[in-house]
Amino acid sequence: MSRIAKTEAISLKNVSLSGASRYIIALTRDFGKVTLVAKGIKKPKSRFGACLEPFVLSEVLFYHKENRETHYISHCDIIESFSNLRRDLEKIRFAAASVSVIDKVIDHEEKNSVLFDLVFSILTELNRSEESQLFILYLAFLTKLAALLGFQPILDRCLRCGALAEERTHPYFSIVEGGLICSGCEIVASKDRINYKRITPEIREILYQFLTEKFYKNKRRILTDSSLEQLHILLKMYLEYHTDKRIPPISESYLII
Ligand SMILES: [Zn+2]
Repeated sequence: MSRIAKTEAISLKNVSLSGASRYIIALTRDFGKVTLVAKGIKKPKSRFGACLEPFVLSEVLFYHKENRETHYISHCDIIESFSNLRRDLEKIRFAAASVSVIDKVIDHEEKNSVLFDLVFSILTELNRSEESQLFILYLAFLTKLAALLGFQPILDRCLRCGALAEERTHPYFSIVEGGLICSGCEIVASKDRINYKRITPEIREILYQFLTEKFYKNKRRILTDSSLEQLHILLKMYLEYHTDKRIPPISESYLII
């Protein structure tokens, strides 16, 4: 049983097929992540044009077949091409990293319009932001994604004894339990170096802001290069542990696209 479906779609990845066709792995507003087949897309005068290129937001019409893993596209129109982003290699790197994470951690055909809005928002911000803001935007994206997937870390108190963050120092972050461990509980924490990561008050504060503020405020935060890198490692480990999927490094993501 197949029916024609219309939805907004953001292309995450293209995979070349034999002949002139491609698979388009896309995140859609109404069907979640889907694999679409674009017949004839590699021909010079393809009717699809650029609307299925990575990162482009389009409205697509496709034949949706239940219990099938792939669906044929009949038509698409560009809604937003993110043209600044697509002309800038640094922006492409971070956009590619963002959509690669989504491709890795999201299962097929599970509708989640909040997730769709998150991906649209990060592409919008990468498109219009300064180069110096791209990394912090990507880290804010990973933090918001973790929360949206159900792994929001506890950042206002110790997971063990409940001591509030403003009353005591909290030098550890537990990857497994998802939150802070205070200095009073440090002896237990120090036994497991893989689970418990050192976290500075600066990084705790920025994680809290990522969770409570929108992207346009997140990107104005200033962090040193070493704090950015430390936060990146922490978020990568955190997402990998809780999703059981490998998060690709930023530079490697660019090569996948
Ligand atoms: Zn404690």
